[in-house]
Amino acid sequence: MTLKYEICSNCIMDTTDPEIQFDDNGFCDHCNNFYRNILPNWNPGPEGEKELMKIVTKIREEGKGKEYDCLMGISGGVDSSYMAYLAKVKLGLRPLIFHIDAGWNSQQAVNNIERIIDSLDLDLHTEVINWEEMKDLQAAFFKAQVCHVDTPQDHAFQAAMWNFAAKHNFKYILNGGNISSECVREPLEWHYHASDLRQIKDIHSKFGTRPLSSFPLASIFKYRIYYKYIKGITVVKPLDFIPFEKEKAMQFLEKEFGWQRYAEKHYESRFTKFYEGYWMPKKFGFDIRLAHYSSLILTKQMTREEALKKVSVLPYDDEAIKEDFEYVATKIGFTVGEFKEIMNGKNKTYRDYKNSMGFIEMGMKLMRFFGGERKLIR
Ligand SMILES: [Zn+2]
Repeated sequence: MTLKYEICSNCIMDTTDPEIQFDDNGFCDHCNNFYRNILPNWNPGPEGEKELMKIVTKIREEGKGKEYDCLMGISGGVDSSYMAYLAKVKLGLRPLIFHIDAGWNSQQAVNNIERIIDSLDLDLHTEVINWEEMKDLQAAFFKAQVCHVDTPQDHAFQAAMWNFAAKHNFKYILNGGNISSECVREPLEWHYHASDLRQIKDIHSKFGTRPLSSFPLASIFKYRIYYKYIKGITVVKPLDFIPFEKEKAMQFLEKEFGWQRYAEKHYESRFTKFYEGYWMPKKFGFDIRLAHYSSLILTKQMTREEALKKVSVLPYDDEAIKEDFEYVATKIGFTVGEFKEIMNGKNKTYRDYKNSMGFIEMGMKLMRFFGGERKLIR
């Protein structure tokens, strides 16, 4: 653990990531990981497009005679919205679009999804999470005083989609995740694995008040082994094969579909806005924009100076936060006073509750050994 404050000389990640390491040039491990492991394998140009078309041909072939040839999630954010356009128009795929309504969609998100679906004449399947269960699990995470209170939402999104894919025999899931805007991962301390079902169950057993009867759940074992090897579901990330720049993509979507932009990445959900914009920085001192902007710096979409200037302004404004604070508190079932008490309570980490980190670390070592994927579903 570094005690002295230090910031990377290349991106803007700093010692608020307790595991950050710097080399002799002052470059952090996120930068070095990008230059050594990610950049050499990333071909967002003609070569990548050729590779993508090979995969697309295979998806189309295997999907012949089926109503849809792949499944893809949509949140209304820029990545998934752009991917829907790409899949239908540019790649000629026949995706079923999948949306999870966890009770926190912003008006913009709803508008964006509608516009994309209607303009592109796509089919949408919306799964609504049982709100009483969602609320109970979210309240449990707040009471647990951990930073990663977005876990119930994140977990539900992933689990519901994978469970649906397995049930309806989808072999391909298109994922809007991309190197271009996400090559610097949020440190584990900021954002623990949402796929860790053991942690969810432990926190829920301690602070939850009702059973999770219909809440979508799936363990890491289920994703990594059962769905992947037994059900044969493959995840494809099309945005990694093409030149994908966030700002350009947003401008395109605005012009083409009347899509509306958000102030920050992930603000398509009112919950995520509160969580990333206030809960994380105010209670834990973690500013997720450092990771988001560092990704944009490494992929040359923002300068380091621009990023530093942006993060020098607080992510929330004091007036607006009062309203959001009350909104989130009331919606989850706390009084403003109770919620303030939680806000001021003692911070905990994922280590304070049962977790699968031992297994995850072993799995990652094994995957590296066999030259497989480096990333896990977070
Ligand atoms: Zn760096």
